[in-house]
Amino acid sequence: FEPWDDPQEKPLIHFQNVTKRFGAFTAIDNLTIDIYEREFYALLGPSGCGKTTLMRMLAGFETPTEGTILLADQDIVSVPPNKRATNMMFQSYALFPHLSIWENIAFGLKREGMPKPDINNRVEEMLRLTRLEKFSNRKPHQISGGQRQRVALARSLAKAPKLLLLDEPLGALDKKLRQETQFELMDIQEKTGTTFVIVTHDQEEAMTVASRVAVMDHGKIIQVATPDRIYETPNSVYVADFIGDVNIIQGTTTANGEDSYAIAWADGRAPLTANSNQPFSDGQECHLAIRPEKVAISTERPENAANAVQGKILDIAYLGNISTYHVELPSGVVVKAQAANTRRISRRSYTWEDTVWLSWTATAGVLLAN
Ligand code: ATP
Repeated sequence: FEPWDDPQEKPLIHFQNVTKRFGAFTAIDNLTIDIYEREFYALLGPSGCGKTTLMRMLAGFETPTEGTILLADQDIVSVPPNKRATNMMFQSYALFPHLSIWENIAFGLKREGMPKPDINNRVEEMLRLTRLEKFSNRKPHQISGGQRQRVALARSLAKAPKLLLLDEPLGALDKKLRQETQFELMDIQEKTGTTFVIVTHDQEEAMTVASRVAVMDHGKIIQVATPDRIYETPNSVYVADFIGDVNIIQGTTTANGEDSYAIAWADGRAPLTANSNQPFSDGQECHLAIRPEKVAISTERPENAANAVQGKILDIAYLGNISTYHVELPSGVVVKAQAANTRRISRRSYTWEDTVWLSWTATAGVLLAN
């Protein structure tokens, strides 16, 4: 059960027809979204699509040109950043170099005038949560990058915001540490029950940590869904292409029975077969999006495959656990197939220039109108 699938659940954040213009340029275009309590909500999209602008409006650093933003049913558009139940953690962390880790975490609480015993309790709790007890007396330059990231997180959570905004929070970490820290971030989010909104360029990161992913383009949200639904059932070529690797095959549909379509495509010898519960009319242009791992590769023609095409291996990308094969069909269309490397590479069955069969089922792909 996911609360954000339940229409009865009240959103913590509600954007209603929000537009943000900078002069004549529209950075956020008539956006309406809901973010629920305890969600880990990721904003994904190419550079300049408006992710940071959306976050900054949540934090209160930007005011919408039009529309309303509600936080727990209250209009926050005219509430200044420091009066909002939100906090933003920046990529630079902005820790005070001359203060200890303990003092860094306590800083905002002192400024707020919290009583001393409460500050002590709160800082100790944050140190425990982020596993930094041992480092409380050190200065930021005396701890590692990953630990500094945790201090920044502890400091952002100390005031117990309802909403924490994370702008590329793991951007300064190397890949391995980044992956470990993703799990810590999820763990801390779950323990505190705080709603997190994260902006990241890293799709894998968004898919790993987020309960829902919002894919943006030119100031609009194109699709919001759980990571698996975004990946398995993208609503457009844009989303299919933005998340992970995909084959996009262009063609025209003809109804072929209930929810089933024949697709005429560039490789004219035989139409493809695909299922779709979204209706298509005869002769309608479509795109069939198929993930490379859903395309099987074999030497012999597979029996009873809904779709089988023959081609020649152009390229092989060896990725250790898997390899991606680029297979060129006689029509010139290139289809990517992925296979697990369960055998040693020296005994691999396929190599460059091999003629192979590619096959996939009628439900392997998603039929898209745009
Ligand atoms: P990135 O991933 O590169 O950080 P982004 O998706 O976060 O990009 P934003 O920073 O939200 O994008 O910017 C969206 C668009 O609005 C960009 O084209 C940017 O140039 C423009 N923009 C942002 N802030 C301002 C501003 N203060 N004045 C004018 N234009 C701005």
